[in-house]
Amino acid sequence: MAQRPGFPIKLSTQAKAPPVKTPATKPASTHPQGLGLDSSTVRQRMVQKLAAQGLKHPLVLQAMGTVERHRFVESALVNQAYEDTSLPIGLGQTISKPNVVARMIELLLEGAGGKLGRVLEIGTGCGYQAAVLSHVATEVYSIERLKGLHEKARSNLRHFRLANVHLLFGDGMLGYPKGAPYAAIISAAGGETLPQAWLDQLAVGGRLVAPTVTHSGQQALMVVDRTDQGYEQSVLEAVHFVPLKSGIS
Ligand code: SAH
Repeated sequence: MAQRPGFPIKLSTQAKAPPVKTPATKPASTHPQGLGLDSSTVRQRMVQKLAAQGLKHPLVLQAMGTVERHRFVESALVNQAYEDTSLPIGLGQTISKPNVVARMIELLLEGAGGKLGRVLEIGTGCGYQAAVLSHVATEVYSIERLKGLHEKARSNLRHFRLANVHLLFGDGMLGYPKGAPYAAIISAAGGETLPQAWLDQLAVGGRLVAPTVTHSGQQALMVVDRTDQGYEQSVLEAVHFVPLKSGIS
């Protein structure tokens, strides 16, 4: 791992070196304050932690190491951008923990044998997960029901110029029939049941991953595979996502 430069640099007291002048203005930096000199180093550390937690798909780790998460959070939270924590993004919503984003995308890629085709994301939020998805899929359709967040995501993503991300404002419970069928569907909000539209819009051979309330009343990650024969559902670990709501606002 690269060593951080020591600061302040100690000058030898013996050598009669001229006083070191610090430049009056700092060189322009594309990194916000608080992240140190190089956000990619911080990101690589996050990726190492994800790998230590058992995440291993090379495409996922690469995407997580590429997307600048700090560009999606408020400036006051930039210091926490690469910690494994969910963070507020406004309007009562949160950006998911890196670990959960990576885990869900890894589930989508399982058995895909390379990049995914068209993906539908429900709950654009700040746009972070859509940006990660853009690196592992050919096309990403991402729907958000809150106009304020839809616009925030559009402004956050502008910097990245991701031509394969399509942001949509609407009720994601209805899916987005125009882009169907999808190789993968991922929801960042958890409902009581899986909307029928998602099952209908999933391609044969495709996979859906979504938090859903189980019989016990707890949220868990639900995985649905669509096969020639029908749908196969499995319930995985407990999770905590914001609620899936109908309609727009
Ligand atoms: N993937 C997002 C996570 C945002 S949190 C990110 O990276 O930031 C989940 C989001 O789902 C919230 O913004 C919430 O408004 C949205 N949501 C909830 N129900 C929805 C629905 N029916 N259609 C679209 N978005 C919905």
